[in-house]
Amino acid sequence: MLSLKTKVEKSIIILSGGIDSSTLLFYLVNLKKYKVIHGITFIYGQKHHKEIEFAKKIAQRFYNLEHILVDLTSLKTILRSALTCTYSKPTVVPNRNAVFLSIAVGYAESIGADSIFYGAHHSDRGTYPDCRREFVESFQKTAKLGTGNMSLDVETPFINMTKAEIISLGNRLNVPYDLTWSCYQGKEKHCGICGSCRERKIAFANAGIKDPTIYEQ
Ligand SMILES: [Zn+2]
Repeated sequence: MLSLKTKVEKSIIILSGGIDSSTLLFYLVNLKKYKVIHGITFIYGQKHHKEIEFAKKIAQRFYNLEHILVDLTSLKTILRSALTCTYSKPTVVPNRNAVFLSIAVGYAESIGADSIFYGAHHSDRGTYPDCRREFVESFQKTAKLGTGNMSLDVETPFINMTKAEIISLGNRLNVPYDLTWSCYQGKEKHCGICGSCRERKIAFANAGIKDPTIYEQ
């Protein structure tokens, strides 16, 4: 429902440089509901900065998007994961999205935004508890209670979509997927064999869409 508020509608989107959040950005812009969109990208001690570089590239596609980087590098000293340490196997960074969303909620209150978009989707629900609908619904309540702002929404329009469905949507929205990064390794090209590269390849294949990514193998 369209709001009757006269203030400028602002939204925040969490951008990671990957397929999901980049498609979400195009989806959000295409909604034409928000005059001002703020992108927020977290540096949380990832082993490489490729995804941050790609988040910047996608954000630069939109002249009216304000993009900020939030440096949480010290998190890597307490949150162990294969994404932040060389000696850890799981790619789950414990409670990562709750941490990111909490900061985004504070940011939203600070700039007067009523919506926070993040790219949780169905393909991740098995591995990442903080991508599940139950988590989002619970966090939604927490965000309202934590700020006293009952109109603050956490929006996850892809929550019931698979990665392949997201790519199909993104293809219709002309998302430049060559400007997105999935690989766990920070080399020149996508490695093509890590779990995230394999998932990326499969999602494009399932969507029946040509994958513009250049893989090492
Ligand atoms: Zn890879």
